[in-house]
Amino acid sequence: MSIQTTEAIVLRSINFAESSKIVTFYTSQFGKIKGIAKGARSAKNKFGSSLEIFSHIVLIFYQKKTDIQLVSQCDLKNPFLNIRDDLIKTAYASYFIELINKTIEGAQESEQIFDLILNALITLETTGVEPEVLAHFFEIRLLKMLGCIPVFDRCVNCGAKIVNGKFSCRLGGILNNECWGADESAPRISLGTILTIRHLQASGFSNLSRLKLNKLSSQELKLVLESYIKYTLVSNLKSLDFLEQVANI
Ligand SMILES: [Zn+2]
Repeated sequence: MSIQTTEAIVLRSINFAESSKIVTFYTSQFGKIKGIAKGARSAKNKFGSSLEIFSHIVLIFYQKKTDIQLVSQCDLKNPFLNIRDDLIKTAYASYFIELINKTIEGAQESEQIFDLILNALITLETTGVEPEVLAHFFEIRLLKMLGCIPVFDRCVNCGAKIVNGKFSCRLGGILNNECWGADESAPRISLGTILTIRHLQASGFSNLSRLKLNKLSSQELKLVLESYIKYTLVSNLKSLDFLEQVANI
């Protein structure tokens, strides 16, 4: 049993036995891991608030050969208090965390994905970037990292340049007018939205603040990316229902 130190984001925390917690972390060095934090609910809780969902911490744990590691110590680096104070930001952060928790297994692409989550939380915490823009950027980045980004720069069926078209989840990309018959259930998507997606693909966290979505792009981006994520990665995302409720308050 060796002792390891790594940066981590808390993805999930559930009560276990009388006074412990089982916590799911996304770490920079080991990907997704689960650990038991003994005494985390006792009066002498040495972990403080570091085990709350989306906390950024330095995690020290005993690496065991089982699925559950033994958490030794957690030092809180960022509790993301601005996110916790804001219902909309909390809803978006919960969505990012749930997407990661449900789509990533084990040590998959750990450092890149860790940076994606951390930068998304920092952007939500410290900048005026529209959370909706950030969410679509996050979705596109994650799809790319997982190797399942749809084709947005040409027709997925014939390869021709796109003027406008439909988006097919089944075929994984845009269909131009000539190829609409390839998937008749595909919804229409405007050229403006296709260009916005390409712009997001070429963007970094630092230039998202300049991007504003009009109503049509907002509706179409949500339709395209959510339906594609549900089709390819994970069908059941509770945080999307929460986001929907919060948006309607
Ligand atoms: Zn085509």
